[in-house]
Amino acid sequence: MASPSSAPARPPAFRSIGRSILLTLPIALWSLLMFTPSFRSGGRALSIGAVLVIVFMTSLFFLMMRTGETYRWRRIFFVALGFLFPVGFIASLIAERGTMSIPISRMVSGDTPFCFMVTPALILPAAFARTIVFPGSILPTASNPHSIAVMIGLWFAFTLVLGKAWCSYACFFGGMDEGFAAFGKRRRLHRFVTKYGSILRLIPWAILLCVVLLSAALFEPFYCMWLCPFKTVTEFPAVRDLETALQFGVFVTLFVGLVVVLPYLTKKRTQCGFFCPFGAFQSLFNKINLFDIRFDREKCFDCGLCQTSCPTVALSKESVREGKTLLNCMKCGACVDACKKDAAVWHLKGTPVAVKPERARLLFLYGAWALATMFGGSILANSIATMVHWLPLK
Ligand code: SF4
Ligand code: SF4
Repeated sequence: MASPSSAPARPPAFRSIGRSILLTLPIALWSLLMFTPSFRSGGRALSIGAVLVIVFMTSLFFLMMRTGETYRWRRIFFVALGFLFPVGFIASLIAERGTMSIPISRMVSGDTPFCFMVTPALILPAAFARTIVFPGSILPTASNPHSIAVMIGLWFAFTLVLGKAWCSYACFFGGMDEGFAAFGKRRRLHRFVTKYGSILRLIPWAILLCVVLLSAALFEPFYCMWLCPFKTVTEFPAVRDLETALQFGVFVTLFVGLVVVLPYLTKKRTQCGFFCPFGAFQSLFNKINLFDIRFDREKCFDCGLCQTSCPTVALSKESVREGKTLLNCMKCGACVDACKKDAAVWHLKGTPVAVKPERARLLFLYGAWALATMFGGSILANSIATMVHWLPLK
């Protein structure tokens, strides 16, 4: 068996410029289609945001085609989404109510937008008590097109096709810990994370179980009320008494620990991989979606680069030897890009492994990028429009 150091570098997967442009055309057209309403009725600021997003998303897709790399270009979009989402969100809160905090009474009367993270908490109360334990309108209205039904429908359609890729291409929270992980210089705690990876991977499942049961027992979205780190950078219950002060303290502590400090130290997505119950819930759909990452045993020489590069410890030595990822793979593409022997490949389920992996990658990326453009792209455009409003332009 060859040693890691003797591995020849993977030949570059560059495509010609013409072919890359051709493959990028569907995404360019999709982006134009998505943002046409912004040009028609969104005003100057939103039009500027839309143009920038179309260029941004199309350029990144072109680079994915041209270089054959996925992770690097996807991460640029995803981190931009994670860091710009709060800008637009906080600005709209300040414009509307002058503060990021919200009185509990307004929260329970539906004055807060639906967040997909709450989806698992809805299941038991909806099934047994026909109650949605989250305020807001179920069907779209003129003032709230992002109703509960629309958000869940969007999430479900995407998840059926692409599984846990939601966590790498759509979740506007995931870009935050990925961003802080990218800023980290060294992989500190690497041995700890590798040694206890099997335990760390179980934590989100335990939290998911608690959240589902407690939400049903208390008839409230328990995760939102007590555990969401992202309340720190979105909206949070106004601090009025000991209970709300405690809630706020938990949100800030989790945010600083899981989204900022630990990702920076470990270069892993610690909030997404070792805490988020919604991420665990998404993992279930990895069983039934169309795509996965596989490992060609003929080419693999057990160098471990793929495991080191995985941001959520979704690989173990054993899983790579079996030719698969673990259930919590979020299809970010880091392992495929890291493998110098082309042993890690994109795969369309039901087809032979390592036969035309580029075709599987292309099909996957069309789906993932279409969603990223529609969902994340519109968030980016709104945030950019907000910043354009701040500019002293006449
Ligand atoms: S699949 Fe992983 S362990 Fe095997 S050669 Fe590629 S990077 Fe190394
Ligand atoms: S196994 Fe590969 S594609 Fe899946 S999360 Fe890890 S690095 Fe990303």
